[in-house]
Amino acid sequence: MSRHGTGARGRRRWLLVGALALAVTLAVTAAVTGRWPGTSTDTAAVGSADPAQLAPAPATPTVPSSAPPVPTTPPVPTTPPASPVPPFDAQRFSVDDPASPWVVVNKTRPLSPLDYAPADLVPVAGGVTLAAPAAAAMDQLVTAAAAQGLTVTPLSGYRSYDYQQGVHASAVSRLGRAAADAASARAGYSEHQTGLGVDVGGGGCDIEQCFAGTAEGMWVAAECWRYGWIVRYTAPEQQVTGYKGEPWHLRYVGVELSTEMRARGVATLEQFFGLPAAPDYLD
Ligand SMILES: [Zn+2]
Repeated sequence: MSRHGTGARGRRRWLLVGALALAVTLAVTAAVTGRWPGTSTDTAAVGSADPAQLAPAPATPTVPSSAPPVPTTPPVPTTPPASPVPPFDAQRFSVDDPASPWVVVNKTRPLSPLDYAPADLVPVAGGVTLAAPAAAAMDQLVTAAAAQGLTVTPLSGYRSYDYQQGVHASAVSRLGRAAADAASARAGYSEHQTGLGVDVGGGGCDIEQCFAGTAEGMWVAAECWRYGWIVRYTAPEQQVTGYKGEPWHLRYVGVELSTEMRARGVATLEQFFGLPAAPDYLD
């Protein structure tokens, strides 16, 4: 019985010593780490105390599972960046060659030679003729308009030097030279002579200002660029082009240029290519 009693006292004493030792260990650990070991996520601090006396330590250390992993190397793109769009090449075609889609003809820039005639005239729906690229583009425009239920009709395309000379001479005799120059181009100064200009009609209005108010005229103004055309003479730019607004006169320049002019919001070829305004003839 006494051994038993002595043994129980001994166990109590060792338990007391053990508890004191644990308390000291915990206190020292807390003093060193600044945290009570049972609340720490630092396994090194936990390891210095008896694991059986502590709250369960996390099996894996440190980073909460909800935190995103920290990349050790920059992410590698899986696709290469899109190749940059090459800048628009404004030198690609001549603005002087009458056979160039970008030729600029106005009252200070006559055709050279003055009696130039395109070599590639072809007929277009409506009975007019145009230079081949313009003819194909006009067919596309007419077809696209028809798909919208609109009838756009080419009414006047290529006009020869001789024809234009007759038209202008007739106007001079009726109106006088100044009024004739305001209404029609002199021979050698007309876009119609290049085969790249065309007058269109529709919506019950042919080659008149009212065309701008028709469904056809509004469609042409908004959509012709898609087929390589621009409305060449716009009312606000009369002092640049030398002509009052002509919503019916379209000029073929090719899709590349018509798209670029639209993107930049430039209305005239003179402004786009940095050429002088041409409000009137020089003589
Ligand atoms: Zn015209």
